[in-house]
Amino acid sequence: MRGIMHRRGCAGATLVRMQATVSDSLSAQPPRRLNLREFAQRGAALQGSVAVSDLPRLAASLHADAAQLRQLQVHWSLQGMLRPQPGGGEHALVRLHVRGALPMTCQRCLQAAQQDIDDEAMLRLVDDEPEIDAEELESVEEAFCARHPVDVLELIEDQLILALPLVPMHAACPQPLARPHEAAQDAAAAASPFAVLAALRGKPD
Ligand SMILES: [Zn+2]
Repeated sequence: MRGIMHRRGCAGATLVRMQATVSDSLSAQPPRRLNLREFAQRGAALQGSVAVSDLPRLAASLHADAAQLRQLQVHWSLQGMLRPQPGGGEHALVRLHVRGALPMTCQRCLQAAQQDIDDEAMLRLVDDEPEIDAEELESVEEAFCARHPVDVLELIEDQLILALPLVPMHAACPQPLARPHEAAQDAAAAASPFAVLAALRGKPD
């Protein structure tokens, strides 16, 4: 549900006051176990690059061989923050940003088509999965259960997969479509028996 909720919320965006931008590290490997609540409370930040070959679920959707996948890098960053609530207390938030240029299979010409991905999620940390009510669907933030440490590598991979287009396509395909002349002939041949039948049926006896 994460992605759906994330994508629904656009109206009524809540302004988030950035509390701190302390950099833990300029470039890091994504931690495999991170306590997000503590990360948010510290106003911590992390960023780095990861090879797509380390993201097998994402790699399965791409138009690239193993050597190309090792060369392909995606950039990620994670920023923790606290936002005071009007009635007192505060929300712990983590912003995840992912960016990369990923080759997918163009659904028109079946060649590789580069997709520029630049996507962000604002995770509002909660202890329990919330009921998915209207308020939750309207929110620009995703309620994210942070009771247990999270695998940031998986978080990055999930976000990239959510950001991929459902039907990737070149704006303009670099090569003409495969043998359109023959395709047209095939279509005509396939249609002809029905055309003949229709003509016979239409004949007055
Ligand atoms: Zn194409």
